[in-house]
Amino acid sequence: MNYQSVNPFNGKILQTFDELTDLELEKALESATTSFEAWRHTSFADRAAIVSKAAEIMRKHIEEFARPMTLEMGKLIGEARGEVLLSADILEYYAMNAENFLAPQHLKPSSGEAIIVNTPFGVLFGVQPWNFPYYQLARFAAPNLMAGNVVMVKHASCVPQCAIAFEKLWLEAGAPIGAYTNLLISHDQVNRVIDDPRIKGIALTGSVEAGKSVAARAGQNLKKTTMELGGNDAFIVLDDADLEKTIEWAVWAKMNNTGQCCVAAKRFIVVEKLAERFLEKFKAALMEFKPGDPMDSATTLAPLSTESALLQLLNQVEQAIARGAGLVLGGNRIEREGSFMQPTILDNIKPDNPAYREEFFGPVALFFRVKDEDEAVMLANDSDFGLGGSIFTQDIEWGKFVANRIDTGMVFINHPTWTSPDLPFGGIKNSGYGRELSSLGIHEFVNKKLIRIDTINAQT
Ligand code: NAP
Repeated sequence: MNYQSVNPFNGKILQTFDELTDLELEKALESATTSFEAWRHTSFADRAAIVSKAAEIMRKHIEEFARPMTLEMGKLIGEARGEVLLSADILEYYAMNAENFLAPQHLKPSSGEAIIVNTPFGVLFGVQPWNFPYYQLARFAAPNLMAGNVVMVKHASCVPQCAIAFEKLWLEAGAPIGAYTNLLISHDQVNRVIDDPRIKGIALTGSVEAGKSVAARAGQNLKKTTMELGGNDAFIVLDDADLEKTIEWAVWAKMNNTGQCCVAAKRFIVVEKLAERFLEKFKAALMEFKPGDPMDSATTLAPLSTESALLQLLNQVEQAIARGAGLVLGGNRIEREGSFMQPTILDNIKPDNPAYREEFFGPVALFFRVKDEDEAVMLANDSDFGLGGSIFTQDIEWGKFVANRIDTGMVFINHPTWTSPDLPFGGIKNSGYGRELSSLGIHEFVNKKLIRIDTINAQT
């Protein structure tokens, strides 16, 4: 039984779900293919009415959407409510802007006319992670449905209730059957879906390993992909940073979603002048977190998403220390029921320590002291990942200059890397390729078709 809802707060199995049989999967593919033929010709206004309606339903039923997240993967209930609203905002954003983003573009050729029109690819397949159970689905579904594509989604096996709730949302909003399909399928079936000629594009958000597997399979089929993978974001503190504000953001950047964000700050790189004071205050702030029931609004430290995620993180910390890292704070599981990890800080991480290159997906901060800006930039860029990053300084021009030196898809100044419907999201290197959200996200799976109208010159 692969799809299982388990509450990481107490380890209780809430519900289990059967995977689709091959016959059921075939029917779903057929239904999506049929649906596309009608949906592609549906007007922007009609699509927008459905997508807006879905946003309205999410906003109206925040609690009904938020609770399954907290139960299945342990997200603090306040954060879960915030994610429901953010997801609704993404739906609304594309309902409002898609037609404009995809408007035909008139070129200026030397003679005649030339127009680029954006036509949908067809049936798309998304493979999605558990850490933002609705936000991830919204940022894949909303632009693509508005572009006239239909979508099929394989969600992570630990959040089946959220996956099912999001599919139900589309039917309630009035989307035709087959426009949005949730697939409870195995990894083998994922490969067969990728191979299926009815699938025209694939978007994966998840780990580097999953990305390599899915991108390779899609490559064998010459299908376009986008990959939103892991990160090892640097949080750079320059010597003129406002320490109090920087600490507040450092804590948020590490502990939001219990550190289980692709763009969580993972490497704290602080110049010598502020390093000791930063570390002291950062450590004190992390010690304040109190574990408890994530359903209780007073809880500040949630469990990790699953017991296996906790065991993996503990093992990484153990290995890091065995290879010479210093333990500044935490490092252990919290002795109580549930999959709780102590907020942890490691320092003295040398390049030959595997921790130097790994992504720690949880409340574990890697701390580095550096001499100056140059050393901070060198360290930040010495990574296999290239997702986000942030720079703290009171001199915005300096911040912009340093941002330009960082090799990632996103850099924020005086704020941790974060997301908004109107800002492009994505990375380079092992963090993947392609962009989601903003006007860029809706252009990933459309055919930019040239229509050329020539002047007919009479031959004399
Ligand atoms: P994961 O294990 O790679 O899983 C992601 C999705 O891929 C799940 O649906 C999973 O299904 C599926 N999957 C995994 N291996 C597969 C394979 N070999 N073939 C087919 N499907 C496969 O990642 P995760 O642990 O859920 O998520 C954490 C990772 O995602 C982190 O590295 C994080 O940084 C990254 N992430 C990136 C972004 C971004 O936008 N860049 C956003 C969020 C998360 P099962 O659950 O059934 O295995």
